[in-house]
Parts: sequence; C-alpha cells; structure tokens
Amino acid sequence: MKFNHLIEKHDLRTKCIEDKEHYFVPTSQVEATLDHVSVRFRCKKCGMLSTTFMTREDYKTHQNLIEKFGSA
Ligand SMILES: [Zn+2]
Repeated sequence: MKFNHLIEKHDLRTKCIEDKEHYFVPTSQVEATLDHVSVRFRCKKCGMLSTTFMTREDYKTHQNLIEKFGSA
C-alpha cells in the first residue's frame, strides 16, 4: 500500500527512478513529541526518505495502517 498522500508535497514533486512517481511506505521510525508525531517514510523503489509531521490527532487516524505496513 502506497502512502503518498501523507508525504510532504515538496518531496512528492521530486522524481523517482525512470521519471516515475515515488512509492512511499512507512518505516518503523516514529517519534512523538508533546504536540506532534513525526513518521519517517521511505520510497520502496529508490530509497528516498521523507519525514512527515502530523498532529497527534492526525496520527491516530493513520496509526493502524502505519503500524500495519511499517517496517524497519
Ligand atoms: Zn522513489
């Protein structure tokens, strides 16, 4: 499952291999601060990393999928 909808627009605009769209999946690197949660994503085609910051509430919305598909 692709998580591109959670990726920063700036990172999404960069090109993946063969001029295609990245395919971002979550990693297990999730860090919580007082107000925000940062989640590290990695493109499974080219390996590019992208970190997304979301509010704790937003994170709750996505948490199940992120944990299900997240990997080291
Ligand atoms: Zn890529």
